[in-house]
Amino acid sequence: MNQNQIEIVDPTRLRASLQCLRYYYWEHERNIIPIKPRMPLIHGIGIHDTLEAHYHGASLGAALQKYDKIWDEEVVPYQNEMSDEDPKRNPRRWAETFILYRQRYKIEPFEVLILPNGKPAIEVPFFLPLTKDLALAGIIDLIIKYLGQIMLVDHKTTSYLNQKWIRSFNPNHQFSAYLLAANELLKPTRPITTLLVNAIKVHATDNRLEAMFDRIPTTRTPNQLIQFKEEMIAWWTYSVRAARKSGSWPRNDDRCERWPESCVYKDLCTELEVDYRKLIPSPTIYKIKQWNPIVRLQEHGLQLPDGVVII
Ligand code: SF4
Repeated sequence: MNQNQIEIVDPTRLRASLQCLRYYYWEHERNIIPIKPRMPLIHGIGIHDTLEAHYHGASLGAALQKYDKIWDEEVVPYQNEMSDEDPKRNPRRWAETFILYRQRYKIEPFEVLILPNGKPAIEVPFFLPLTKDLALAGIIDLIIKYLGQIMLVDHKTTSYLNQKWIRSFNPNHQFSAYLLAANELLKPTRPITTLLVNAIKVHATDNRLEAMFDRIPTTRTPNQLIQFKEEMIAWWTYSVRAARKSGSWPRNDDRCERWPESCVYKDLCTELEVDYRKLIPSPTIYKIKQWNPIVRLQEHGLQLPDGVVII
């Protein structure tokens, strides 16, 4: 590998690889994804785009149009493939929820940080080399000044806004990655140790402000972030790249039924006759679409260092 070629690990790839290496193989090595829209993912992107516009000062209608755009692109063309509409995840329910969000946070208690380039720190892309051929990349939803400190904010949706969900914030590699990147790239005089989870409950009918929204801090010490960096390098080197080199992607049978429904790749993983590496999935169930994290980062203004080639 030449020195300028860098592989990206972003939260999506990292989460896929950690939950199951075979899942990572299907989604990111073979670029196979289900045709049927994955509603939690699409709903989450629509909400992020709405909130990005909101914090840039867009009106209610203009912010909601961002959700509608994602819906029109990702859901409308496949509506024949879907059973009934998800009552928790659709444009009407998001509009109702977002109106409540604006009531709940009519006056924000924080200021959005202004970056050295003069732009407000809303949807801030980052690219952080970990080794000469591996970089961490992603988008930080907001960087704020709050209670005399710089903090990060991550918008998160959940069906279960409860203590069990809150306990999942630490360890949580996505949050650690954001805090590591913010510290290494901004180099603040005092370390940034807190990320505020901007929790939004996904529910079909609940309209109680106190039940639908919360802001929950999670913290990491500088020492924890050093350890996280070491873990990420080791995971990618000795698991993901080792699997790629050996051509063998182990299944994690503990994950297959952990989602509300069976894993989307279950029929591929239980194929009887053909070696999974030679399997051609049914075009009526799956399509080929590459996940390219850099495109979204570049749409948010990321400039790669000179001479860097993403592989
Ligand atoms: S069905 Fe199970 S083994 Fe296969 S990709 Fe999904 S989680 Fe992994």
